[in-house]
Amino acid sequence: MVLFRFLAIIFLAYFGYRFFSKIREENQKMVIEKEDILEEDPVCKRLVPRKQAVVYEKAGQKIYFCGKECCKKYRKEKEKNEDK
Ligand SMILES: [Zn+2]
Repeated sequence: MVLFRFLAIIFLAYFGYRFFSKIREENQKMVIEKEDILEEDPVCKRLVPRKQAVVYEKAGQKIYFCGKECCKKYRKEKEKNEDK
């Protein structure tokens, strides 16, 4: 019976821990969502949260992209324009 009680305590501790860490995670998620600012990707015109965006910085100006592909496209276009 001692062993059973021991296992029961571990079981409760484990699920208690999981329960509370889940609550904490959800609180953090809410904070992140509040802090997330949507930026428009100039290539595909999609709205991207800053934290997930690929950031391209030029002359102190930050431009946000949904992914590396859009960033590459944008840089290519820019370089073309600068060559003219
Ligand atoms: Zn994009």
